[in-house]
Amino acid sequence: MKKHNFYAGPSILPQVAIEKAAQAIFDFNGTGVSLLSISHRTKDFEAVVGEAESLFRELLGIPDGYKVLFLGGGASTQFFEVPYNLLEKKAGYVNTGVWSKKAIKEARLFGEVEVVASSEDRNFTYIPKDFAIPADLDYLHITTNNTIYGTEYHSDIDSPVPLVADMSSDILSRPVDVSKYAMIYGGAQKNVGPAGVTFVIVREEILGKVSRPLPSMVDYRNHIANGSMFNTPPVFPIFVMNETLKWVKQMGGVEALHAINREKAALLYDEIDRNRLFVGTAAREDRSLMNICFVMAPGYEELAAEFLEFSKERGMVGIKGHRLVGGFRASCYNALPRESVEALVACMQEFERLKA
Ligand SMILES: *Cc1c(COP(=O)(O)O)cnc(C)c1O
Repeated sequence: MKKHNFYAGPSILPQVAIEKAAQAIFDFNGTGVSLLSISHRTKDFEAVVGEAESLFRELLGIPDGYKVLFLGGGASTQFFEVPYNLLEKKAGYVNTGVWSKKAIKEARLFGEVEVVASSEDRNFTYIPKDFAIPADLDYLHITTNNTIYGTEYHSDIDSPVPLVADMSSDILSRPVDVSKYAMIYGGAQKNVGPAGVTFVIVREEILGKVSRPLPSMVDYRNHIANGSMFNTPPVFPIFVMNETLKWVKQMGGVEALHAINREKAALLYDEIDRNRLFVGTAAREDRSLMNICFVMAPGYEELAAEFLEFSKERGMVGIKGHRLVGGFRASCYNALPRESVEALVACMQEFERLKA
């Protein structure tokens, strides 16, 4: 049976990227050697890193003055590397959920943290708006898409202080004005590749301003100076990411994917709003295009486990909601085809005919 992969992360990748990866495991670039056993300091692999960087730049329109790095450690390592490199006195954080909270916890190890806005009062079901940003912050940190709760900023905010964004789960899903950010980072495993590589886009001039000594691996300047090869980079994940970036370009780039993502999300949200059995959990204006969260409607709560089983029998994979929200979460990343959303919608309609 055809599977429809709605996992939140690691998550669906373009089929072509998986096929290229499978080939390269046996024979990388016709070298007769597996991608898993080549040196990262070969011309062929350096070309992969170079291509991935230039595709990232092209697809996101990254201006001069910004560096692109591919590192290990996941987005969670950036939670402490960001304040390590940038926090001298005080940083501001917007608290929009678990990932923000983890970032806040780490930043507190390095200086004062002011939580300038939070949506904790309503279990992170919305994005705080119109909050004041103090001018004396070293930087302001936001999480642009809240993977667990299904909320997302739909435009780039204006910040009078350097803006740092965790874009783990919405990078490349929509156009972004990179010039509004001092730094953008994320784990690749939601929308750009397999687990194991972390992307960092950083405006070079903001670095080197803190007074504390930095461990070599933590100092972004060392990674910049060595073109993401300060130590052994995650070779295999970078290769798969590069193939995914090529696919993004071939699909018409970020704007084209944004249009498709909007259509996919509208299909599913319309069904959630129409179907008597389900309700969405996020505030309408802040609904994520990437992670679509819904629960059983009042009166039908006891059907949740049954719907999960019902959908599984029809090929749906990974739609169980995060334990903090409950219900269901359908992650609709770039590589998820529209037909998978249609299959889920059909499944919800069939369940409604049986139960409502
Ligand atoms: C998944 C996720 C993380 C954690 O990423 P790791 O690579 O596992 O450290 C951080 N932030 C957001 C928004 C995420 O979705």
